Amino acid sequence: MNEALPLGVFGGTFDPVHVGHLRLAEEAREALQLGRVRWIPAGQPWHRAAPQTSPAHRLAMVEAAVASNEAFEVDGREVASGRPSYTVDTLTALRAELGDALPLVLILGTDAFSLLHTWHRWRELFALAHIGLATRAGQAVDPAALDPALAAELAARGGRDAQALRKRPSGAIVRFDMTPLAVSATDIRARLARGERCRYLLPDEVFEYIRLNRLY
Ligand code: ATP
Repeated sequence: MNEALPLGVFGGTFDPVHVGHLRLAEEAREALQLGRVRWIPAGQPWHRAAPQTSPAHRLAMVEAAVASNEAFEVDGREVASGRPSYTVDTLTALRAELGDALPLVLILGTDAFSLLHTWHRWRELFALAHIGLATRAGQAVDPAALDPALAAELAARGGRDAQALRKRPSGAIVRFDMTPLAVSATDIRARLARGERCRYLLPDEVFEYIRLNRLY
């Protein structure tokens, strides 16, 4: 594995992890030419209602889901911390461990990106990592629908050239087209609560874990 290739960083609640997450990480890896993607499940997310499932279970489901992909790795630091997890703190810690030169690429879906201006110390994120922003094929992110400060950052930093990610360690926002998959954890939780198996919405390993542990 080429250590110099950018490292993808993919955070989420993963309550539970599903095929939308897996395709997002895989398509980001391919489109942005990332060496690896590090999945970092949130312990206690600060910006949304408490997850239905414990951090340990959500971490275990992510581990089961990504085990067969050698380019994926799982980082349990936010789950282990027991505190609300701020991405700016996690990226600061990664920088201290991995050094200042390695490009880091925070992978975000459009819905997560559109709320970036509400994140703790969000402007500092650009000094720590690039952003890889998944857009639906053929559709641009509508700057008019974004917070003005965030739209200004997108205008200044945005592009579609994955090569920009290798030229410096942080600061660019590179968009890439992702196969549209209208799958969400919210919908899957509702289906599981109704007793549906959710085959092909979740990896089989994740469904088995949910069944054995009687989650949702
Ligand atoms: P919930 O329905 O509970 O809000 P979710 O399915 O959106 O959950 P999260 O863990 O909140 O999952 O999302 C983590 C990241 O994955 C976010 O950046 C989000 O934009 C992205 N994401 C989630 N589902 C999809 C999908 N179907 N297609 C593309 N990106 C997705």
